[in-house]
Amino acid sequence: MAKTISYITGSQLLALNPHPNIAIIDVRDDERSYDGHIAGSLHYASDTFSNKISNLIQDVKGKDTLVFHCALSQVRGPTCALRFANYLEEMKEDVGIKNILVLERGFNGWEASGRPVCRCTDVPCKGQCA
Ligand SMILES: [Zn+2]
Repeated sequence: MAKTISYITGSQLLALNPHPNIAIIDVRDDERSYDGHIAGSLHYASDTFSNKISNLIQDVKGKDTLVFHCALSQVRGPTCALRFANYLEEMKEDVGIKNILVLERGFNGWEASGRPVCRCTDVPCKGQCA
């Protein structure tokens, strides 16, 4: 079964977040520390993403939908989402994740549309979208 990556728009995500079953995965690299982030998102930088997939799976236990994004969601976001989907497939173990999505237009699009940006320095971010 080949998994395909679908997109979710910022307004769809805003309507859903916070949601107990959804995890947002920010795969930007250093930008997260100075540009802010979507409240409640987890940070798995794309440059070390492959090494940390098993941590990520632990982190998202109980979630059924993962939303990946980078700055624009053109390269790093979809690449990491696909890598994650392939990893799950090879694992052959059902961890309960049903949907792997990519946030359309990424963090920059999210911010440009005036959606809430969290600037806390907590790791992980405990915030929630207003
Ligand atoms: Zn935060």
